[in-house]
Amino acid sequence: MTNDKIWLSSPHMGGTELSYVNEAFATNWVAPLGPNVTGFEQAIESYLGDDVHVAALSSGTAALHLGLILLGVQAGDEVLCQSMTFSASANPIVYLGATPIFIDSEMTTWNLCPIALEEAIIDRLAKGKKPKAIIAVHLYGMPYNVEAISAVAQKYAIPILEDSAEALGSTYKGKSCGTFGNLGVLSFNGNKIITTSGGGALVTPTEDLKNKAVFLATQARDAATHYQHSEIGYNYRLSNICAGIGRGQMEVLADHVANRRNMNSFYKELLQPYDFVTFLTEPTTAYYSNYWLTTIRIHPELAPKGTSAEGLRLALEKENIESRPLWKPMHLQPVFSDCPYYGKDVAEHLFATGLCLPSGSNLNDSDRQRIATSIRSYFE
Ligand SMILES: *Cc1c(COP(=O)(O)O)cnc(C)c1O
Repeated sequence: MTNDKIWLSSPHMGGTELSYVNEAFATNWVAPLGPNVTGFEQAIESYLGDDVHVAALSSGTAALHLGLILLGVQAGDEVLCQSMTFSASANPIVYLGATPIFIDSEMTTWNLCPIALEEAIIDRLAKGKKPKAIIAVHLYGMPYNVEAISAVAQKYAIPILEDSAEALGSTYKGKSCGTFGNLGVLSFNGNKIITTSGGGALVTPTEDLKNKAVFLATQARDAATHYQHSEIGYNYRLSNICAGIGRGQMEVLADHVANRRNMNSFYKELLQPYDFVTFLTEPTTAYYSNYWLTTIRIHPELAPKGTSAEGLRLALEKENIESRPLWKPMHLQPVFSDCPYYGKDVAEHLFATGLCLPSGSNLNDSDRQRIATSIRSYFE
């Protein structure tokens, strides 16, 4: 058996990506627009269904930034944001001079807790400021409680910016993640379920909003032959080269989802004998996760003495197998220490006891065998 590195989640090419890239070279579409950009957007639109419009952008972070701008967020505003997430969910709030208000997770989905969310809204309203938007995340591919979160958002008429960066291929009640918010965000970074090396997209319900996103993403040029600007623009459009990779990746997205879900089943079987291990798992049949990453918790009060998530991570690292702690909640991050926080200690508990396991769609039987051997030998 080789001892090659087993990555947490690495790029997995399907085979046709290079032909789209070659076509871009052959036709000299080496620019942030072109047939691959249009073709990639159309492929995502037909995959997501439900009559959505997609603007391909340079990153998921750029999509979050433009999403907040389109929702009218300005300096001095407050934006509610899931605390348990990657920092890119929250950073664009600060780019705009607005303040993140962080919200705890619920145990079932690890995503926004609807009760903490409503408590936060009531308290911010009492303090005299209505939050401008809610950033809700489908963490690790698990849909948030769409029904409950949408109900709270509607009750107070606050728009949702849906961070679906980790959840392309996930559904809730049969409807695609990325299509639930007033606006949705996708990411095609190197470690995501499909990749363009770097890239992202904003999902909008109307053609007008898509056009507005593309306008802002291409330096906000007014309709004039000379360079005229009435608004501040950004350089956020996706390269036609990267979009070529994306077109090839869309052809294998369904396979990637199937493979990641198989990895999740593999871990559930492997860890079944250990009752101190639990999974982030679909709470009901309404939820369908792409299981971008399989994530577990090792419960300290049940586990054998000296066994912990961090212990398992170090044991795997010795075998050249990458695993990773869960996202450290934003309200515990030094850079956000001054931001208000609502909820209890769910996110903190998850962070203290959780681990992300290697979940790539390109892992093979020999990788799984090495992982199984290493995990069993740590627990025994
Ligand atoms: C990856 C990720 C992003 C950012 O996407 P980029 O394309 O890397 O900018 C945002 N939110 C979450 C939850 C992510 O996992």
